[in-house]
Amino acid sequence: VLLFCLVASGRAEYAKYKDPKQPVSVRVKDLLSRMTLAEKIGQMTQIERENATADVLAKYFIGSVLSGGGSVPAPQASAEAWAAMVNGMQKGALSTRLGIPIIYGIDAVHGHNNVYKATIFPHNVGLGATRDPDLVKRIGAATALEVRATGIPYVFAPCIAVCRDPRWGRCYESYSEDPKVVQSMTSLISGLQGDVPATSVGRPYVGGSKKVAACAKHYVGDGGTYMGINENNTIIDQHGLMTIHMPPYYNSIIRGVSTVMVSYSSWNGVKMHANHFLVTDFLKNKLKFRGFVISDWEGIDRITTPPHANYSYSIEAGIGAGIDMIMVPFRYTEFIDDLTTQVNNKVIPMSRIDDAVYRILRVKFTMGLFENPYADPSLAGELGKQEHRELAREAVRKSLVLLKNGKSAYSPLLPLPKKAGKILVAGSHADNLGFQCGGWTITWQGQGGNDNVTAGTTILSAIKSTVDPSTQVVYSESPDATVLGDKYDYAIVVVGEPPYAETFGDNLNLTIPEPGPSVIQSVCKTVKCVVVLISGRPLVVEPYIGAMDAFVAAWLPGTEGQGVADVLFGDYGFSGKLSRTWFKSVDQLPMNVGDKHYDPLFPFGFGLTTQPRK
Ligand code: BGC
Repeated sequence: VLLFCLVASGRAEYAKYKDPKQPVSVRVKDLLSRMTLAEKIGQMTQIERENATADVLAKYFIGSVLSGGGSVPAPQASAEAWAAMVNGMQKGALSTRLGIPIIYGIDAVHGHNNVYKATIFPHNVGLGATRDPDLVKRIGAATALEVRATGIPYVFAPCIAVCRDPRWGRCYESYSEDPKVVQSMTSLISGLQGDVPATSVGRPYVGGSKKVAACAKHYVGDGGTYMGINENNTIIDQHGLMTIHMPPYYNSIIRGVSTVMVSYSSWNGVKMHANHFLVTDFLKNKLKFRGFVISDWEGIDRITTPPHANYSYSIEAGIGAGIDMIMVPFRYTEFIDDLTTQVNNKVIPMSRIDDAVYRILRVKFTMGLFENPYADPSLAGELGKQEHRELAREAVRKSLVLLKNGKSAYSPLLPLPKKAGKILVAGSHADNLGFQCGGWTITWQGQGGNDNVTAGTTILSAIKSTVDPSTQVVYSESPDATVLGDKYDYAIVVVGEPPYAETFGDNLNLTIPEPGPSVIQSVCKTVKCVVVLISGRPLVVEPYIGAMDAFVAAWLPGTEGQGVADVLFGDYGFSGKLSRTWFKSVDQLPMNVGDKHYDPLFPFGFGLTTQPRK
């Protein structure tokens, strides 16, 4: 370590901040006292991967880099290639006068989903249905290992939105419409970061180089926008905000979450990115959150409409509100220049800059980034490893919600017999890994239609390997009359939504896309059928539910389709419970548990069970 210090600083001087034996607060203060304004503003700046050459990082003293949803290295890059990329950037950062490491962040929101061959876990809507916080914590721990395998120490997860309207394109990133369920699932943070020791409850904590810093997002009220319109206005009184959308933040802070991301949305017309009361007075001062607050991607730019209408004002309002790290400021050099001028002109006080940098450095020191800035090559084997796939498969089994089983309670269809003459598997989603994984998989919008998106098991192949070898499985995506003329013992119809992310997923109709409904109707008319719905939210099913013999909500299960077959065929029982209200028609929306006029097709918490076959 000493040698490293000598080389990095270029002189033989003892610096407290470089001494791991010093307490974090001493190290932060020492380092802060040595920093120029340019070095401080650099720490506050997070830029996109493709701009982050080692030279740029060194020149602007950049504090953080990210792979935003829309930009990933070659889809099939290996863990080693990712790690080499991040290491290269780190080298640039460490070559500077003070040698402050960057913190690289990525959207690992259901496993390390930007990375080929990573384990892809069910999206949060499915995890909410498991009601199993311990499972979610184990998923966090597995995700941390897979992320660290690529040299990355920071993830933009969990999304702790309380989605109140399924028309929102990000509803699947929310565990539930019920704050209590979302609160319980902040266990992901403890899995990602490690259990916060009793002596530092409520302080940012990352337990070493096999754990990652987490980010609770999007603060606050992102799941409550008008008609579920993404990034829109959440119209609710303060009591409603505090009792519906805020509670998961309490749990996150207690668990030592390192960072909080601000929401693009507004609260009663005020952009969250400019809300001093909620970011500084409430989150930092009242709740005593000590990690750093990060903006969303170009979030401060969007304080004005249109974005960048008055960039200086946006910078002043965003940083003045209490944002510490700016994720992708539009044209980062312009941001750096403008912020420098505003500080020099005392428009933004130096104390605000020091608070921001203090928080960023505190997280970096706490998580050991100064001691372990580079990827640990011994972790490369963690990516997509079998143990993690087994965990994902368990999560899939527990996330499935059985909503109908048999035309009457006396004639259940599930579990299906493994030994049958001939069975039909139908529907666009039966044999397509891209559909199974949904948005935020390999690319931002997901890989719809790409059945070869990454390593995993489709539901069709899982069915084939689960049934008795004597059972004939016939697959037809959209079966016509010739196929249906045959005699089948039963049919499994797998239909649903295509992948989407953010605003692209906003949807006022929430119908099952064609030809899904026609496939359901034609197959279920002729053959005893179970319909498996792959979707990020409840969809309109009332018109078809009568035709189905059984109905399963499978959400967005991810790469381990085997978990679906495990439960359909009775190796395990169904246990999932709706984490959302299943509406009859969209004109009922928003409709959430506890509402006065509650008239759902299936209520919040509903889910039939089956016993595993002996
Ligand atoms: C999303 C965030 C995400 C960020 C970085 C934004 O568009 O709102 O949830 O973490 O991009 O990819």
